[in-house]
Amino acid sequence: SVQNLDHYFGQGQLKKQVLFDITLEINAGEIIIMTGPSGSGKTTLLTLVGGLRSAQSGSLQVLGRELCGANAAQLTEARRSHGYIFQAHNLHGSLTALQNVRMGLELHKDISPQEMKTRSAEMLEQVGLGHRLNYYPDDLSGGQKQRVAIARALVSRPRIVLADEPTAALDSKSGRDVVNLMQKLAKEQGCTILMVTHDNRILDIADRIVHMEDGKLAQDRAIVSALS
Ligand code: ATP
Repeated sequence: SVQNLDHYFGQGQLKKQVLFDITLEINAGEIIIMTGPSGSGKTTLLTLVGGLRSAQSGSLQVLGRELCGANAAQLTEARRSHGYIFQAHNLHGSLTALQNVRMGLELHKDISPQEMKTRSAEMLEQVGLGHRLNYYPDDLSGGQKQRVAIARALVSRPRIVLADEPTAALDSKSGRDVVNLMQKLAKEQGCTILMVTHDNRILDIADRIVHMEDGKLAQDRAIVSALS
């Protein structure tokens, strides 16, 4: 639940407002796509919802927790409920696919090392990479790397998945495969997806499309009207 959210970067004379009075309700289980020109504030909003930085003014409640003004410990706690998928898959080149997926359980100290390994292998199986557990990112295709990133984001069974341009580095077939996979796994796990994209070919997976312009929410449309 985002209410009257403003956000600024910089200090003093360099202080610049980048989000203006954003109000947005996202329901559990929804797939929301955020569109808008470069610099309109999409990634900033995504990182605030994701607890990657603290919101400064207004209200931002995620799963009942207020993140506006939250301290570092509170943000870390909030991030335990989230999975992240970025444009550049951000895999560690020196770790295997299995070890990369295991990183998605880093914040979950309650899970034993053996269970982490088992769950990571099962997750890779689900994204169709059960035969690539011990491969390094350099030995995987772009689409396979992004599937490892999806497995890493979902292995902790997050309530919310935040994805920033997850198909940007992929050809159209791999991009479609990746979003179909995200949609399928998210529905199976009952999680909410908030995704930023410039890729018009994948808008159909959204339940709702939110359009940003100049740091403001310009439109919030149900998918039926958005595609008509
Ligand atoms: P793109 O589609 O190009 O990724 P975007 O819509 O995601 O763009 P943001 O990355 O959220 O836009 O940027 C919004 C504004 O905030 C831009 O003017 C950008 O220059 C500025 N900005 C983003 N991150 C920072 C930062 N860490 N420090 C200062 N300014 C920033």
